[in-house]
Amino acid sequence: MPVMKRLAVLGSTGSIGVSTLEIAAAHPDRFQIVALTAGRNLELLAVQVKHFRPVVVAVRTEADALELRRIFGETSLEILYGTDGLIACATAGDVDMVVSAIVGAAGLEPTLAAIQAGKDIALANKETLVAAGPLVMAAVRDHGVALFPVDSEHSAIFQSLEGHRMHDVRRLILTASGGPFRTASLSELTQVTPEDALVHPNWSMGRKITIDSATMMNKGLEVIEARWLFDLPAEQIDVHIHPESIVHSMVEYVDGAVIAQLGLPDMKTPIAYALSYPERLPLDLPPLDLCQLGQLHFHEPDLQRFRCLDLAYQALRTGGTAPAVMNAANEIAVDAFLERQLSFLAIANLIEEVLSRHEVRPLTDLEQVLAADAWSRDMARQLVADQDMEYCQ
Ligand code: NAD
Ligand code: MG
Repeated sequence: MPVMKRLAVLGSTGSIGVSTLEIAAAHPDRFQIVALTAGRNLELLAVQVKHFRPVVVAVRTEADALELRRIFGETSLEILYGTDGLIACATAGDVDMVVSAIVGAAGLEPTLAAIQAGKDIALANKETLVAAGPLVMAAVRDHGVALFPVDSEHSAIFQSLEGHRMHDVRRLILTASGGPFRTASLSELTQVTPEDALVHPNWSMGRKITIDSATMMNKGLEVIEARWLFDLPAEQIDVHIHPESIVHSMVEYVDGAVIAQLGLPDMKTPIAYALSYPERLPLDLPPLDLCQLGQLHFHEPDLQRFRCLDLAYQALRTGGTAPAVMNAANEIAVDAFLERQLSFLAIANLIEEVLSRHEVRPLTDLEQVLAADAWSRDMARQLVADQDMEYCQ
């Protein structure tokens, strides 16, 4: 008999959240859903609550919590809201593992609280490690919890490291699809609209990460995520463009051996591995047919056209509060781009400008990360509102 694992799914109505619950629904003997949280999609959350019968849920606002109370009447379901609600769900007494699948730095506080409460983590929310990597990994060690990567690249590296010694690793090679504009010229990139950027060639994901994939900031965030997950410096983390998204990432060892994990681009594989490690769950996915694919391609990323990737490497090298500031500025820039207040290429300009105005401090505690994040958001919003041609065109 498999052991029943009790899950809290933060961000249950998102792309990762929904895939996680599909896996849980297919394996009811293994997973019990204790807590769910959602931002605004009450309709889907209500359907999930009816199916999985969690004991506690959290939404973003008090008004939404009241609306949910109206839908469910006087049941024993606990309905919470705001950051406190997220933290209560992430730390609920009998939860074994927290699936951290909120988008953006909003995921940081509940994820850290879950670690401090001794919960194992399945981490999709890469922004947590980008903003506060050293603090989060120190908490993981101090509280003796396991943190499993959900991000496909990091899951691939995690799998490619198994049975090997970190000491023997020469470098990690993260693969990147290159997004919808992989072959676009700089002048074509000046014309990109939100509609163009929201169409990813290989993956179906939430809006923010889809835009991050188009700018390649997503790969930059993933380089920083890898730095903290695997405790290797930026110099030992490289990126290869791989348009087919079949090789999910690789580890190169000192003897020249390269170990990779391959699969079709479907997040269910890395999510399931994080949920059930070290076991593998049978999933209803078509097999990978390499003979039919015939060819796989790899090339270097172009940092002139995809400046966000370069900015992320720079922020990682700078260290301290720089990655948190970069991450927050990126969130504001992506929103502004989606609202047509910023051009596609200006996303990198805005982030660079905010970073250049930031006085970097060493990372000491959570409050400092939150303050750097808040400062960055204010500065980025102000620059967008000023509509300074340099940043916004
Ligand atoms: P999404 O936008 O589809 O879903 C985000 C979820 O978080 C939703 O449930 C939303 O309601 C909730 N949410 C958003 N803002 C919130 C806030 N301020 N407070 C509380 N809840 C909030 O996003 P996604 O694509 O599922 O991505 C989630 C995370 O996983 C991101 O960090 C992303 O980078 C990472 N990730 C996603 C994929 C993917 O394939 N989608 C792959 C790798 C990593
Ligand atoms: Mg990824």
